[in-house]
Amino acid sequence: MASKRYALPDRKRCVSCGACAGECPRNALSIWRGCYAVVDKTACVGCGICQRTCPANCIVLIPREDPQ
Ligand code: SF4
Ligand code: SF4
Repeated sequence: MASKRYALPDRKRCVSCGACAGECPRNALSIWRGCYAVVDKTACVGCGICQRTCPANCIVLIPREDPQ
């Protein structure tokens, strides 16, 4: 279940198209109140499909450190 990376959408550049949420095989992405994409870090497996799908190119894959 653990992955080395997780997807992080840039909410300032997100255009709320929903493409990422539609493609994610884990249903880890949703559009928060219709405003911008948010990720469920626990569900994301870091596959990168959403990153390749995003027309705004605003999703990055972040190393999973979880220091807290
Ligand atoms: S990296 Fe994969 S699992 Fe994670 S949010 Fe994107 S499409 Fe979903
Ligand atoms: S695909 Fe990109 S622009 Fe569209 S909702 Fe997802 S993060 Fe936002």
